[in-house]
Amino acid sequence: MSETFKAILVSRGEDKRQSVSVAELSEAELMDGDVTVAVEWTTVNYKDGLAITGKAPVVRRFPLVPGIDFAGTVVSSRHAGWKPGDKVILNGWGVGETHFGAYAARARVNGDWLVPLPEGMSGREAMAVGTAGYTAMLSVMALERHGITPQRGPVVVTGAAGGVGSVAIALLSRLGYHVIASTGRLSEGAYLTELGATEIIDRAELSGPAKPLDRERWAGGVDAVGSHTLANVLSMTSYGGAVAACGLAQGMELPASVAPFILRGVSLLGIDSVMAPISLRLEAWRRLASELDHQKLATLTTPIGFDAIIDAARDIVEGRIRGRVVVEMP
Ligand code: NDP
Repeated sequence: MSETFKAILVSRGEDKRQSVSVAELSEAELMDGDVTVAVEWTTVNYKDGLAITGKAPVVRRFPLVPGIDFAGTVVSSRHAGWKPGDKVILNGWGVGETHFGAYAARARVNGDWLVPLPEGMSGREAMAVGTAGYTAMLSVMALERHGITPQRGPVVVTGAAGGVGSVAIALLSRLGYHVIASTGRLSEGAYLTELGATEIIDRAELSGPAKPLDRERWAGGVDAVGSHTLANVLSMTSYGGAVAACGLAQGMELPASVAPFILRGVSLLGIDSVMAPISLRLEAWRRLASELDHQKLATLTTPIGFDAIIDAARDIVEGRIRGRVVVEMP
């Protein structure tokens, strides 16, 4: 490859204001690591949107190449687990936050952060899933560990038309759950039904202040929204149910009552994808490769080019992206 390559760079001026630009980098400018990867596919997650717009302090070292996940091929390795030619995926571990990330043709990372591209999945598909979809799988696995089977009753998915929500719906419906999709975009009803939603509700039903306990409507939930929405989801969860909390699209606060926990034995399951142990990642990616319907993945994916990443980052924090975007690197 040429001496330099295009990269997105987030910088901070003396006035502490963040800015974003496209720059030329060389391999010598990459950060330390024992594996260098040719980044072939990436995506734009909500966190990438926050990093690029500076809407939340995701970037914690300047300048930084953002991009929290990628799929690619190992170019060189001093790590015992990887050799040139290996197909790999990376999600999280501070990449795109404190370590140079995906939005460059090359990434140099710690080999312990990589997982192999699972059999039956292409790099493009892996990034169509991306961190959002892998988090949806972690959420489904947490509900299963808690015994929330399809027989227990419906499961609600909030932020349904977004990335986590769309993949969660496809996965849960494939597993036989009755899925209630909560969305602010009722115009996306046909899309959500195609992914496998059985019922669609207006997110306005869940976005105001919650009662301590409300009518029992579902046995479980995957919540990408937080704030009042999560409080309402909890207050409407039936006896012994569980809610996997993975996001904060409405807000980081949780204005909830303990009533669902102490009167209905409801459990709140925290989902973190960034530092999740390798064993959990391997299981999540293996299941995504075998259980996520390829046709549904195609339905929820929009391909964009490298030059459209910055605009997509702005769009995702405004809730304007449907499903997932996948980026082919130049
Ligand atoms: P998206 O932007 O794709 O989806 C978020 C969705 O939330 C939107 O599409 C919209 O869905 C809904 N939404 C947006 N704003 C509001 C609002 N003010 N009130 C209620 N609903 C709202 O993002 P992702 O799916 O990629 O990520 C979702 C969340 O999950 C983010 O907060 C992200 O940071 C978090 N996340 C956490 C991870 C973890 O490790 N815990 C990993 C990955 C993501 P609709 O239009 O259908 O209403």
